[in-house]
Amino acid sequence: MIKVQFEAGKLRWKQYKHSLSRALAHAGLDAELSQNHDPGDVDYLVCEPSERSIDFSAYSNAKAVLSLWAGVENIAANKTLTQPLCRMVDNGLTEGMAEWVAGHVLRHHLGMDAHIVNPGHHWDATPPPLARNRKVGILGLGELGGPCAKTLARLNFDVAGWSRRPKRIAGIRCCSGNDGLETVLAQSSVLVLLLPLTAETENLINAARLAILPRGAFLLNPGRGQLIDDEALLNALGSGHLAHATLDVFRQEPLPPDHPFWAHPKITVTPHIAGETRPDTASQSIAENIRRKQAGEPLLHVVDREAGY
Ligand code: NAP
Repeated sequence: MIKVQFEAGKLRWKQYKHSLSRALAHAGLDAELSQNHDPGDVDYLVCEPSERSIDFSAYSNAKAVLSLWAGVENIAANKTLTQPLCRMVDNGLTEGMAEWVAGHVLRHHLGMDAHIVNPGHHWDATPPPLARNRKVGILGLGELGGPCAKTLARLNFDVAGWSRRPKRIAGIRCCSGNDGLETVLAQSSVLVLLLPLTAETENLINAARLAILPRGAFLLNPGRGQLIDDEALLNALGSGHLAHATLDVFRQEPLPPDHPFWAHPKITVTPHIAGETRPDTASQSIAENIRRKQAGEPLLHVVDREAGY
C-alpha cells in the first residue's frame, strides 16, 4: 500500500479528498490518501506552499514532494527538503491562465474601459488597432508563458517572449539574455509577466526596465508580486509612462484593504485567480507522477533547486 500524505488546509482537503483518491485508483495505484499518516511511513507528500513551514526531514522515506501550486518559491527555499520536489503542471491551470491573459490583453488592446465607463456619453468612433499591429511581450516562456504566447499569436497579436535559456516556438519571436530582455521590453506595448520568483527575477521590473517600455504601455502581472518594484510601478503610472497595470499577484496576499493598489485609477486588482489549480486535472497530474515513480520512470516537472524553479 502506497501511503500518500496530504499536507494542505481544510479547504484543499475538501476539494482534493475524492478527486485525488479517484485519480490514484484510476492510475492503477493501491494507495491510501490521508492527512494523518505517520511521517516516517509516508511514500509521497502532496503539499501546498503556505505560510506554515513544513519540516520535510520528518518524511524520511518519502520518494517525492508534489506541490499543488506551480509557483514553488516557498517550498524550494525550505532547507529541510532533500526529497525531489515536483511543481504543479495542470492542463486546467494552463487553460485558465491563457484565458485570463487573453481577456486582459484584449481589454487594453480594444480600449474597452472607454466604452464601459463613459459617463459623458461621448461618441468617439476611433477604431482600435488590429491585433497584428499590437506588440505583446511575455517574460517567461514556460508551461504557462508558452501557451499564453501561442494563444495571443492565434488572436493575431505580434508576440515576443523572453526565457532564461534560448527557445524556439513557432510564431513567437523568442529572446533570452540581458540584450534579449531589452529587445522585448522596448517593443512591448503590452507586457505580461509569467516568470517564477527566484533570486534572479525578484524586482526585475524596476524603474530602469519600466523606462524601456514604450510610453503608454500596459503591464499584466499574473506571475508573482515580487517581480515588480512597487514604488517604481506607482511612479511609472503617475508619470503617464505606463497607462495601466492589471495585477493578479502581490507581495502580500490577500492584498490589505487599505493598500494603495485597490483605489488606484490605473491599477486593476484581480485576487490571485489568473491560474487556479483545478482539483480534477491536478489530481490526475499528481497521480501520474506517483505512477511514474513507482514504475521506475523519471518524475515530471522536477524543480531545479539551484535555479529556484
Ligand atoms: P515554468 O514552466 O517554470 O516557466 C518559467 C519560465 O520563466 C521559463 O521560460 C524560464 O526560462 C523563465 N525564467 C525563469 N527564470 C528566468 C530568468 N532569470 N530569466 C529569464 N527567464 C527566466 O513556470 P510556469 O509553470 O510557466 O509558471 C510561471 C509562474 O507563474 C510560476 O512560477 C508562478 O509564480 C506563476 N503562477 C501564477 C499563477 C496565478 O494564479 N497568478 C498560477 C500559476 C503560476 P527557461 O524556459 O529557460 O527555463
